[in-house]
Amino acid sequence: MAIPKKVLKQVQERDQYCWHCGREDDLVPHHRKNRGMGGSKLLDNVQNLMMVCAEYNGEMESHAGVAASARGWGHKVPAWETTDGPVFDCVAFRWWVLLPNGWKVMVKDLELF
Ligand SMILES: [Zn+2]
Repeated sequence: MAIPKKVLKQVQERDQYCWHCGREDDLVPHHRKNRGMGGSKLLDNVQNLMMVCAEYNGEMESHAGVAASARGWGHKVPAWETTDGPVFDCVAFRWWVLLPNGWKVMVKDLELF
């Protein structure tokens, strides 16, 4: 099931490089909260999507260790949690919160969470 073009464009404009390694090419949209079998259109939203390189996207699914790190950084979110939690930019070394309007705001105070 394809992500709506308007949503994908917003995510691509917000995320200029892979959140994990910083590369700017070979980027794919990654669902922080997995759509699961069949997939839910509700999870095709800007807060749940982030651009990452195809390599990292694959590793999050195939390596338990990478998946665990991804959860710690908010790149992967369990089904029972919300997607308004902080996301770590491993390149800029900063935490952000993804907003429903397609923007992101930096988390300046780590004690907030
Ligand atoms: Zn990457």
